[in-house]
Amino acid sequence: MRIAILSDIHGNLEALQACLNELDKLRPDKVYCLGDIVGYGANPEECVNIVAQAGWQSVLGNHDAAVIDPSEMTPMNPMARQALEWTAQNLSDKAKDFLKSLPLKIPISDDAIASHGLPHKPSDWLYSDDPYAVLNAFLQVPAKVMFVGHLHYAHSYKYEKEEGKLMLYQLPESLDLSEGRYIVNVGSVGQPRDDDHRACLVIFDDAIPAVIYHRIQYDTALAAKKIVDAGLPDILAQRLFLGR
Ligand code: ZN
Repeated sequence: MRIAILSDIHGNLEALQACLNELDKLRPDKVYCLGDIVGYGANPEECVNIVAQAGWQSVLGNHDAAVIDPSEMTPMNPMARQALEWTAQNLSDKAKDFLKSLPLKIPISDDAIASHGLPHKPSDWLYSDDPYAVLNAFLQVPAKVMFVGHLHYAHSYKYEKEEGKLMLYQLPESLDLSEGRYIVNVGSVGQPRDDDHRACLVIFDDAIPAVIYHRIQYDTALAAKKIVDAGLPDILAQRLFLGR
């Protein structure tokens, strides 16, 4: 089965629409969304509606959680909090109910699970490639393949237990998953931070098994303009062009 997995849309309608066009071409059997549908971008309502209507199985992200429970905002930086307060004011009760319904983790196949950060708590992940955090994730979660969002990086990690090695694959176009265990960061649709401003999604073919990363151009200028026009922090618009 060919499975598309995407994450961290962050209210960026232009990036999400470009991904929808790409999915029309790729024609996967299933699509999963790994959370943070909202926060930062200017079209949270539209993005939630698209994900809900498409019937994609989704998990809860830490920004989604913060919109429905403001106490989840406490550990976030002031810019993220400001964007989330704006998001909470600009999101319908129906969209909030959809976010409330999302689970923390979902099985993708017999060997693979998906979550936003670590499966038990969407925000429980360091914002870095700290090898101890990655190793800790491998030790806590027994799955052969774990798909995650949250970092906004298109990186993957391989853990080879026999040799005690931890390997990082940075921005691979494709990755063979047949040997060893993996954490696959699926990157971000709406706010990439890996120095590539294009939207990101992955295709997971569970029969091989392998992952292929896809990067997709979108109307970044329009998404950035909407952020400025909404009165959200200017840096949230600027970073879209940088992919940071
Ligand atoms: Zn995010």
